[in-house]
Amino acid sequence: MKRNVYLDYTATTFVSDEVLTEMLPVFSTNFANPSSTHHFGREALAYVDKARDRVANAVNAESTEIYFTSGGTESNNWALMGLALANKSKGNHIVTSQVEHHSILDTCKKLETMGYKVTYLPVDEKGLVNIAELIHVINEKTILVSIMTANNEIGTIQNISAISKIAHERNVLFHTDAVQAIGAVPLDVKNIGIDAMSMSSHKIYGPKGCGALYVKKGVKIENLISGGNQENGKRGGTLNVPAIVGFGKAIEIACRDCTINNKKIKTLKEYFINRVKNEIEDVTINGHAFQTLPGLVNISFNFVEGEALMLLLDLEGIAVSTGSACSAGNKDSSHVLHAIGLPKAIVQGGIRFSIGKATTKDEIDYVVDVLKTKVKKLREISPLNKKSKLGGSCTCIQTK
Ligand code: PMP
Repeated sequence: MKRNVYLDYTATTFVSDEVLTEMLPVFSTNFANPSSTHHFGREALAYVDKARDRVANAVNAESTEIYFTSGGTESNNWALMGLALANKSKGNHIVTSQVEHHSILDTCKKLETMGYKVTYLPVDEKGLVNIAELIHVINEKTILVSIMTANNEIGTIQNISAISKIAHERNVLFHTDAVQAIGAVPLDVKNIGIDAMSMSSHKIYGPKGCGALYVKKGVKIENLISGGNQENGKRGGTLNVPAIVGFGKAIEIACRDCTINNKKIKTLKEYFINRVKNEIEDVTINGHAFQTLPGLVNISFNFVEGEALMLLLDLEGIAVSTGSACSAGNKDSSHVLHAIGLPKAIVQGGIRFSIGKATTKDEIDYVVDVLKTKVKKLREISPLNKKSKLGGSCTCIQTK
């Protein structure tokens, strides 16, 4: 029987009941503008202050170092652009990696048109940045190293403590996109040595359209959004109080429940991987075996077009996403799967399954059962598959 199964928690999560309960009064009863000086406004500001404290506590920052934004994309844009502009007199070189989110890569492209030089570090087959290469590329003009904590397509968790140490030893700032890592990886900005860190609410059972940028006290950053004195004069615009309240609660819960959720999710992921490996042949699990996000699995089903499989799964009620939206080589295909060196034909087969805190073993069983039949069906008609009914002739696929 057809079921509805959501396995796309990396794309976004639902808003948890505890979060929604805290948000509701701020939509109606306590709706005031926190910048207003009257008592309604002061009450709204108290909600924002509480949320700011919660975000700060979650990552061991000071509350004055947390700036609310519209989400991870804005935080990444702001970090890169703002730190580059504020440090222009020191140099014009930025180091990032080839597997960053597009909100980093696109901002880097923009900075290049403004006279900045950007080095896009390659990664190994598991998605890890090569530390020796990082040391090699930093020069006297380097002002910023920006490396994500955890990758959103394959889940690989970078060695950010080592990366930040290398940057700091060379007097270079370190920013990390921690959007996927919050709640899954313990993050202590002081211990790790982070100068700026991007966060987002909707990946941790909070509302969409809200996030934060942590900026270490004393680190200079230019404004991206001007037009108001909000956020200590650093980011203009009336605050989205309900979303900020929700984000504050969501990050508090994410830290509180981190160990228990990770354990449950990891157990389901291992069960899923084992069933897939044992029951479907010719699959490649992409990314790092253990230095990875607990709920994310990226799998290439060789001889299968990822997009076609995703659509067939959707027809059976299963929501997943593809690493590659179109054919390899196209600008829409997965830059991450290319960067880890997968052959073009396997890049095309990449599917991201992401397990969340509401996922059940029953759902995983349903997904594997459907997968088995759909992969078989697609392979039978795949021209890439030598064993297919169509008698494919392509022999270019190699599994890793
Ligand atoms: N960085 C990473 C690693 C992400 O996964 C995402 C969301 N897919 C973002 C940044 C952007 O975050 P938001 O959706 O909050 O703008």
